[in-house]
Amino acid sequence: MAVFNQVEFDNHEQVVFCSDKESGLKAIIAVHSTKLGPAVGGCRMWDYAKDEDAVYDVLRLSKGMTYKNAVARLPFGGGKSVIIGNAKEIKSEQLFRAFGRQLERLNGSYYSAEDVNITCADVALMNKETNYVLGLEGKSGNPSPFTAYGTFLGIKAALQHQRGHQDFSGIKVAVQGLGAVAYGLCQHLADAGAKLFVTDINQVAIDRVVNDFGATAVGIDDIYDLDVDVYAPCALGATINDDTIPRIRATIIAGCANNQLAQSRHGEIIREKGILYAPDYVINAGGIINVYYETAPEGYTVEASNKHVEGIFNTLTEIFSRSEKDQKSTHLIADELAQEIIQNGL
Ligand code: NAD
Repeated sequence: MAVFNQVEFDNHEQVVFCSDKESGLKAIIAVHSTKLGPAVGGCRMWDYAKDEDAVYDVLRLSKGMTYKNAVARLPFGGGKSVIIGNAKEIKSEQLFRAFGRQLERLNGSYYSAEDVNITCADVALMNKETNYVLGLEGKSGNPSPFTAYGTFLGIKAALQHQRGHQDFSGIKVAVQGLGAVAYGLCQHLADAGAKLFVTDINQVAIDRVVNDFGATAVGIDDIYDLDVDVYAPCALGATINDDTIPRIRATIIAGCANNQLAQSRHGEIIREKGILYAPDYVINAGGIINVYYETAPEGYTVEASNKHVEGIFNTLTEIFSRSEKDQKSTHLIADELAQEIIQNGL
């Protein structure tokens, strides 16, 4: 199987293929970079159609973590792991303990955590065999409120940059997806005086935000066409694409979802359209910042975590200004900033 000539291969320091016969574990751990510290990134369980897809995913996601951690100015490198298989069928204590033993063998060059289909309870099983895991229950706790706070500050930074003020009264925000992060985001926005237009595939989630924050519910597909100031993608990836861009009327796109641009070229298209885009991995770093404080030498405190999350405002402001000066899309500027920080240190 091709690894070194995969398009996503980016001089990853280590790509480890793991298996365990008894538990049926098949996993890949990719350590992209440990330049700024141990590689940190979650473990994803997915029923990949073929092993090549798992390699592609783990290479891509681990590099993304290096950039995300660097721009968040965390002393972490980037890594990611994937366990291959159907989460509804293969999960067992044996399997997660076998994976934990594989983490232990890496001797701290990579720390794992939750990601798609991996819960706190699964990570706790890994933790029976290794301490190289983060985001355990009872430590830094639920990351979502911190991601929500960072996303709110990111929208504020975008307003300040584009409109020259941070006053949310009369500002209309379309929020797509009303899960753990978006609920907190809606709370911040409503408290600040914004008017919310919301959608979700889950009616219970909609009702909660309508009742709690006076939001207006709209249809799943209508969220793109609204005459609003801000579009906040908080559900799925790839919602900024050839079909949606002509429909989006907001002049700011800023939300917590991962991988919002369907393709890199869409970042340039929206810039040319006059839309200010807050790069996803910069605005949604609040959760990983909070997890970092589990490992901070001075110990975990909410105050230290929040203070660091507040840095997202300035980081985005810097990215917006550079984007304007260089006439280049914000997501490319974010990548450049990440590369500079990795090169020069924190
Ligand atoms: P969640 O699962 O709690 O919420 C996602 C919500 O999106 C759910 O309510 C779901 O019903 C809804 N949804 C799914 N498909 C939809 C669709 N087609 N249209 C509208 N709504 C839809 O997840 P979350 O933890 O709130 O995370 C939301 C996004 O933010 C994800 O992309 C996640 O990867 C990203 N993110 C989360 C964190 C965190 O701290 N939780 C950190 C960084 C990034």
